[in-house]
Amino acid sequence: MAEKEYVCAYKYCSHRDKKVKQSEAVKLGKRYYHWDCAVIKQEIKNCVDTYMDYIDDKTKYATVNRIFNNLVFKDKIPTDFILKNIKNSKKYYCDRPVIALYGIRKLFYREIINNYKGGD
Ligand SMILES: [Zn+2]
Repeated sequence: MAEKEYVCAYKYCSHRDKKVKQSEAVKLGKRYYHWDCAVIKQEIKNCVDTYMDYIDDKTKYATVNRIFNNLVFKDKIPTDFILKNIKNSKKYYCDRPVIALYGIRKLFYREIINNYKGGD
């Protein structure tokens, strides 16, 4: 009998066929994920939770989640860069609207450019 396969529940799944074998799947709640989808989902959640600890307005959760998903999946910014940045700039983000998080994109590209100049 063929091994059971599931459709990965992750909205941002990067695997083209989307199916994941039971033996390779990670179960979160009642849903199945590719292990790498589960990892990135958890890493982004960690970024959101960390940031949410810094601000008072807890209604911003969905917005913050969307911003981090954009930074990771559209702008290809690693989650550890985001996490490091929000931790290092806690004071800065405390007093600013969530939209200030898009500043991370600028910082990331500046770092790439600086590394590029510095290399060679
Ligand atoms: Zn997946």
